[in-house]
Amino acid sequence: MHDWKDGQPFSIRFDDVSFPTDSGLEEKRHVFLQGNELARRFAALRPGETFCIAETGFGTGLNLLCTWQLFEQTAPLGASLDFFSTERFPIDDDELCSALALWPELSTQAAALRARWQRRVPGWNRWHFADGRIRLTLAMEDVMDALPQLPSKVVDAWFLDGFSPAKNPEMWSDGVLTAIARASHECTTLAAYASTGWVRRGLQQVGFEIKRVPGYGHKWEMLVGQVAARHAELKFSPQLPGGVLVIGGGLAGCAAAHTLAQRGIKVTLIESASQLASAASGNPRGILHARFAAGMNTLHRFVLASYGHALALLDEVMPVDGVHRAECGLLQLAATESEAKRIGKLAAQEWPPHLLQAVDAEQASQLAGLPMTHGGLWFPAGGWVVPPAVCARLVQHPNITVRLDSEVTSLERVDSGWRASGEGFSVEAEQAVVCSAHHAKKLAQFAAFPLLAVRGQISVLAATEASNKMQAVLCAEGYCAPAVEGQHVMGATSSFGDDGADIRETDHAENIAKLAVHMPALQQALGDAPPLKGRAGVRCSIPGATPLVGEVEQGLYCSLAHGTRGLLTAGISAEIIASQMCGQLPPLPQELLEALSPLHRIKNTGK
Ligand code: SAM
Repeated sequence: MHDWKDGQPFSIRFDDVSFPTDSGLEEKRHVFLQGNELARRFAALRPGETFCIAETGFGTGLNLLCTWQLFEQTAPLGASLDFFSTERFPIDDDELCSALALWPELSTQAAALRARWQRRVPGWNRWHFADGRIRLTLAMEDVMDALPQLPSKVVDAWFLDGFSPAKNPEMWSDGVLTAIARASHECTTLAAYASTGWVRRGLQQVGFEIKRVPGYGHKWEMLVGQVAARHAELKFSPQLPGGVLVIGGGLAGCAAAHTLAQRGIKVTLIESASQLASAASGNPRGILHARFAAGMNTLHRFVLASYGHALALLDEVMPVDGVHRAECGLLQLAATESEAKRIGKLAAQEWPPHLLQAVDAEQASQLAGLPMTHGGLWFPAGGWVVPPAVCARLVQHPNITVRLDSEVTSLERVDSGWRASGEGFSVEAEQAVVCSAHHAKKLAQFAAFPLLAVRGQISVLAATEASNKMQAVLCAEGYCAPAVEGQHVMGATSSFGDDGADIRETDHAENIAKLAVHMPALQQALGDAPPLKGRAGVRCSIPGATPLVGEVEQGLYCSLAHGTRGLLTAGISAEIIASQMCGQLPPLPQELLEALSPLHRIKNTGK
């Protein structure tokens, strides 16, 4: 949708320049950075404080990159930046590459953005840059869908950059301007290239005092604005919590500890077992398997956002190395009638090819490395990781203290916040997050939560010469990962209400039977040898399957009931909790946060 005209990237759709070249960077700095007085405001931040910018059109991300550069030059260490943007028509990887190549002075930031760009999913994306100091929340959707989903009074400065009002009036509609005002507080400012009269009046009507000031270079004027005193609403400015207890050392707990520690918060992670990742997160390999229904209900929108986030988080903490993580791709086979229907509906929708592609049986066979009787969906970024290794990486931070062999049996409110205690120990901190799966029910605050133990057993089979040809993770009713060091991991059974961790022959038989039905070529390649070993883990689920993530009562949060999807959903859930604790921009739209919220669900269900 972009072309080059007179040396400038040009949007064919909007018949307008996407961003100016030659002096383009200086113009952006003049309009948006100086227009919002960012150098002064960044320098005035204190460690632990966050500044939040929102933009109306992400384009090539140039505004983000020069803001990020200025932030690193001017803000004190310990302060962080939330940058929110919307983009309905994301450019492809090559376009981003050539557009950003024009700015050698931003090449470090551009390289980081390009890497994350390959992880983008429709809907909201949350990516960290500069060791977590810069958080980008990018809503790949229409501005009018995205802005009303921001919390009120969260934005400190606006970049109104959505093409000229004459070419793209939707970007400047009353609805958009009202949403901008709702997300602003008494000190919020704005800047825009556009100085069109009706935009100016629209912004005044929603409560901004607007000035026309000299634009840059060939532009006569631009707009700057600030919330008018009569509309001013005080922003609640929370402090970072002094310390946080994280209860549970699986993926959910380790991810929470990681993102809180990155924000400069001291975390004590308490685990009852003698090592981290000892329960459901302890399998030797877990697969990155995102499964959506065509209707994309709330749960599936959450899973989609979680998948994009998980890939980006893994890129940060566990880059692909073939030992702890492989990006071999994953095939969802249309092996049953209902799967064929689901996959057919999804395939009929438009998806970025780096996310998923529909394939026929022949393409599936090529991708799998073994003959497949069905086609299905191909997830190029799917693959496997070693979950205990991910947990170990996540907690490698000087702000995290890990306390093993400590089963928390009571959690009580004390003057300083929360006290977690068990046999022979007691630890206190200002806030607490419970990430202990179905064991949370033993704590009084969670006794009434409808958490369910779900036993799942995997089987490990010896690879053969024929099965070594397998190149991708294969999923139908069960799954099987390509061989690593001569072993395939396949799984997994699901027994609701069962918390037994014993290894059962019946479960092995079930795993193998599923394989035989849906991937006969793989079963043939593996032969009849019995499994080498198995492992049973107990996951935690809840009716409806949407995890419970968020505040439970003041200062107490939870990240629970991730079911079989913890590898995907633990990371973004940690971001939700950290943003709530720190009063920062959340990574997901309000309606998804409500769907996950224990407070909301418990109130609504009367549980
Ligand atoms: N800020 C960008 C940068 O620094 O590179 C330039 C933004 S460009 C002028 C405007 C962007 O708004 C385009 O990328 C366009 O696709 C996007 N856009 C236009 N209409 C939109 C809408 N209704 N919702 C979301 N994005 C939209």
